Amino acid sequence: MISLNGNDFRTIFSGIRDNIVNSRDMLTGLDSALGDGDLGITMCRGFEEVQKALEDFEDNDVGKILVKAGMVMAQTSPSTMGTLIATGFMKAGKAVTGKNEITLAGFHAMMEAFIEGIMVRGHAKPGDKTIIDALYPAVEELLKAVKEEKSIEDGLSAAYEATAIGAETTKGMIAKHGRPSYYGEKSIGKEDPGAAVGVLIMKAFAEYKRM
Ligand SMILES: [Mg+2]
Repeated sequence: MISLNGNDFRTIFSGIRDNIVNSRDMLTGLDSALGDGDLGITMCRGFEEVQKALEDFEDNDVGKILVKAGMVMAQTSPSTMGTLIATGFMKAGKAVTGKNEITLAGFHAMMEAFIEGIMVRGHAKPGDKTIIDALYPAVEELLKAVKEEKSIEDGLSAAYEATAIGAETTKGMIAKHGRPSYYGEKSIGKEDPGAAVGVLIMKAFAEYKRM
């Protein structure tokens, strides 16, 4: 593949839904340790509704698909993480509006807009023990992959590996935002639930193969 098109994105969103649904108990467990334990349920609901909406959304503009995903997520998952991810998808969509196909460079621009949207909305920066700690290293890997003219598959798999390592590093961090921050230093040793969501999103991109 040299690019991802609208149909690829529709299929990838069903992959994200599968990853989230299959990890519902894991997300609930992580969120119970640092929050109110509703993350598994809210993320499943949101990504299930996004997937259904995209099935019926016939536009092939990748930007519009991402904006649609963000709007549906905002409506169906009115939680902190739902709102942040919705913002991320909407900003990502705006970064690639008008494109029916995106290359690895376009994917980098899209993910950069995704994390910037979340950082602005959530006032979060790297090191705050959030989803950003999983996705920021992925965006850096994507830029490196673009510069090295890697294939889209190699770029996505490097980005996924970076998110997994990034999520792991959140165990050593003190939470600065939301309910996890109530735990202060007691949040050390626990993985950030939002970072785990970031890993599941990137995993679907990395494992996607066009049929
Ligand atoms: Mg929660």
